Amino acid sequence: MTNFENQGFNTKCVHAGTFIDESIKGVNTPIFTSSSFLMDYDSEIKPLYPRALNTPNHKAVAQKIAALEKAKYAYVVSSGMAAISNVLLACLKPGDHVLFQRQIYGGTHCFINHILNDLQVEVDWIYEFNNQAIGKLLKPNTKLIYIETPSNPLLKIVDLSFVASFAKTNNLISVIDNTFATPINQTPLCFGIDVVVHSGSKYFGGHSDMICGAIATNCEKLSHAIFRYINSLGPVLDANSCYLLERSLKTLALRMERINSNAAKIADFLESNSKVTKVNYPGLKSFEGHALAARQMKNFGGMMSFEVKGKAEDVVTKLKLVASALSLGGVESICSIPRATSHSTISAEERKESGISDSLIRFSTGIEDIEDLIADLEQALT
Ligand SMILES: *Cc1c(COP(=O)(O)O)cnc(C)c1O
Repeated sequence: MTNFENQGFNTKCVHAGTFIDESIKGVNTPIFTSSSFLMDYDSEIKPLYPRALNTPNHKAVAQKIAALEKAKYAYVVSSGMAAISNVLLACLKPGDHVLFQRQIYGGTHCFINHILNDLQVEVDWIYEFNNQAIGKLLKPNTKLIYIETPSNPLLKIVDLSFVASFAKTNNLISVIDNTFATPINQTPLCFGIDVVVHSGSKYFGGHSDMICGAIATNCEKLSHAIFRYINSLGPVLDANSCYLLERSLKTLALRMERINSNAAKIADFLESNSKVTKVNYPGLKSFEGHALAARQMKNFGGMMSFEVKGKAEDVVTKLKLVASALSLGGVESICSIPRATSHSTISAEERKESGISDSLIRFSTGIEDIEDLIADLEQALT
């Protein structure tokens, strides 16, 4: 098999992991739907079973994701939450203590409040990423540090090198949710982060038509521990979905290129619009995390958020092309109001404390023509 280590992202997206069936010689991985495989009692090779993620469809897509994240090991699972929960369960036991970035995905927050709480895992929130602030939170039983950068919905940027070295020094496992950036824009394992998790339902799937997740790591021990959980809890993706995901990933770099460039132009447009009071986009020079983002990201991604004068609803309901919908990362541009959607379950006070104002709008940039997107935003903002 070709070694894709030194190839570019587009090449990896298209080719890495592809399983060529020698009897057919098609250029794509065929879909193997069997859940029962013939037994050969004379052979050392054990028959496959899909829950063990060992079919060609699982391996093909996992190898592609490993190549993209520059990881030795990768798994594809049935949702982003399956990736997150299996990693956390595999790394933690009752009595352990974990440090979580304050702003993380709502579902992860629920997992902490319900499952980790039930398991008597202690949790502290990180508000500031410097030695002094995090150092104060450390306990003898601290086991893991978990981050999400850029974060949802304010696009806060956390220093990957700092977190990786803090984790190494203090013997912690570092985990990042890399959903917003994708490996095209950010490869956290290269900065020394231990485990990357993804909601594949977003940019990986990329067409708002599937739910899946992924995990990548270079650590053999962690990889085995995580696999034990996946194999026991069973969050598998069926062969057809694996194929759909593999097919989508072939255009990931291409889609991100367009999404990055559209987003940069939209952020510039929004910043110059008189109805917009603030734009959060890592690519903007005026953005607080810009310098850090420029150091650790190859490009700034498709997610942004902005505040408007007046009510967010008045703008969002006027959009014609951009969908007012949940989720993100698809080829179609999507807008949502965090107050009423992703962050509706947290109190107004907590939202205020986290900087999520009532007039904040989150924007997920699609691949449409930039002129059409800007025209739609412009009419909605007048
Ligand atoms: C959507 C999302 C998740 C959860 O993914 P699912 O595939 O919906 O389970 C986790 N993290 C981030 C950043 C997300 O946007």
